[in-house]
Amino acid sequence: MLNEEKPLNFIEEIIEDDLGSGKHDGRVLTRFPPEPNGYLHIGHAKSICLNFGLGQKYNGQTNLRFDDTNPVTEDTEYVESIKEDIQWLGFQWAQELYTSDYFETLYSYAVALIEKGLAYVDDSTAEEIAAAKGTPTEPGIPTPYRDRSIEENLRLFQEMRDGKYNDGEKVLRAKIDLANPNMHLRDPLLYRIKHVHHHRTGDKWCIYPMYDFAHGQSDAIEQITHSICTLEFIPHRRLYDWCIDKLDIFPSKQYEFARLNMTYTVMSKRKLLQLVNEKFVESWDDPRMPTISGLRRRGYTPASIRNFCDRIGVQKRENMIDVSLLEFCIREDLNQSAWRRMAVLDPIKMVITNYPDGQVEELVGENNPEVEGGEGTRILPFSKELWIERDDFMEEPPKKFFRLGPGLSVRLKHAYIVECHDYVKDESGKVTEIHCTYVPNSKSGEDTSGLKVKGTIHWVSVPHAKEAEVRLYDRLFNDENPAAAEDFKQSINPNSLEIIAKAYIEPDLVNANPKKGYQFIRLGYFTLDSKSTEDKLVFNRTVTLKDSWAKEVKKG
Ligand code: ATP
Ligand code: MG
Repeated sequence: MLNEEKPLNFIEEIIEDDLGSGKHDGRVLTRFPPEPNGYLHIGHAKSICLNFGLGQKYNGQTNLRFDDTNPVTEDTEYVESIKEDIQWLGFQWAQELYTSDYFETLYSYAVALIEKGLAYVDDSTAEEIAAAKGTPTEPGIPTPYRDRSIEENLRLFQEMRDGKYNDGEKVLRAKIDLANPNMHLRDPLLYRIKHVHHHRTGDKWCIYPMYDFAHGQSDAIEQITHSICTLEFIPHRRLYDWCIDKLDIFPSKQYEFARLNMTYTVMSKRKLLQLVNEKFVESWDDPRMPTISGLRRRGYTPASIRNFCDRIGVQKRENMIDVSLLEFCIREDLNQSAWRRMAVLDPIKMVITNYPDGQVEELVGENNPEVEGGEGTRILPFSKELWIERDDFMEEPPKKFFRLGPGLSVRLKHAYIVECHDYVKDESGKVTEIHCTYVPNSKSGEDTSGLKVKGTIHWVSVPHAKEAEVRLYDRLFNDENPAAAEDFKQSINPNSLEIIAKAYIEPDLVNANPKKGYQFIRLGYFTLDSKSTEDKLVFNRTVTLKDSWAKEVKKG
């Protein structure tokens, strides 16, 4: 464990120091604490890989804790999706826990603070509290309720719990320091009144703990050794420590790392929810979404996402990761694992004039030439009429066009060399059919023709072809940093989805495995859409074969 090649990240250094000093008896327990108010996104994957990865690396464990203290936005649909996504990524939690299971304990902790004279019930409105808080350079002033007696506070807090007051009528605040330069220590709110139904506790509670009072205490209840969160919680850390110290409970410690920001992507659940609600995308798992479920439906593999998280590492400073790194990771994975298939997206018919009418040959293609043995083969029916890509033919080809045009020859993948000798146009001048002759002794694998051709093109036999809808995805935003704009929706890419209603695919793709990636030769990597049916096959393009954006930037 200590002699890995990769340098330790700063959190691993902390943990190894702790292990070295015998802290927590050598125990490592982390947690992943999502709020069930949306689907997980690639940013969460970074946190998941970090927390679960540390648990694994140090023979420890990781809890899954739903941070469900805000009943208004939370839902069990989200709970289920979060569990599915974590497991899909390849991780298993030690315990599935809910902050709401600690409500009774947290309540008793609040009572303990009141009893120590460290918390008080404040009747001020939110505006009054904000106004009395001061500014970072000016101290706050006490509200008229700050010096209530312990007995009165205990009674009022009990009455808050009993439902005697309306939302906003009273709050419980910690009594810390109204002059502290850290605004989070200026008597922060601990509890608020909310008469709303909770997805787990029902109507049992009408007061709910604030994040700052729930999170650290939940860590302590579970005896979390390293509580890892993102940088925006740095100013909360002293409050985290204050609560644990005053309550004298298990000394969990908070450590902060930089959240993942990625170009051409928005990464907050609130914004992603807007995209869904306002129908910019089909759903949370729309393949253009940066959600785990969207990436899965798009054809990303768990390994590619884990690999991405590993490559970006863990930093202490905010940064922006290029989305092309994520695309690189899936391309690298699929290049090794995807099975090769042929599909024609923009078809034009080729007739092989010297091929016998009605003859069908069963040609054979390896599934995966990237690995020894090719992972088996599939049959490719070949006949006199084939679909090929329209742009593989030009009436007047330029010099280095190594595809088809009058007098030009190409190899048909896994099949023969053909030469074009004629083509047919309709009244509008559109080419409708290409006529070729084939060289019978040029069959792939047993070619004795001695001919050399530069280009190879893909094809599908017309009588054997199956139809499918193919969806080509592009980035959802045109702006490199959409979240920085006043309205992130302004830079939505209107061309992020192109639907090809009728593509022709080789017959074997009817049996496509929805969990597998396929390389449509020369076109990109594709996967069967999770909503595809036998009657209507739908394929999603996961990623292009090459990074087309890099080229455009250079051109531009
Ligand atoms: P969002 O802002 O997208 O709603 P959140 O932080 O409110 O995210 P939580 O459900 O509270 O979402 O997050 C669970 C865990 O995931 C937290 O520990 C949080 O720090 C972490 N996390 C959230 N977004 C990112 C990100 N972009 N990069 C790394 N970690 C993240
Ligand atoms: Mg949050």
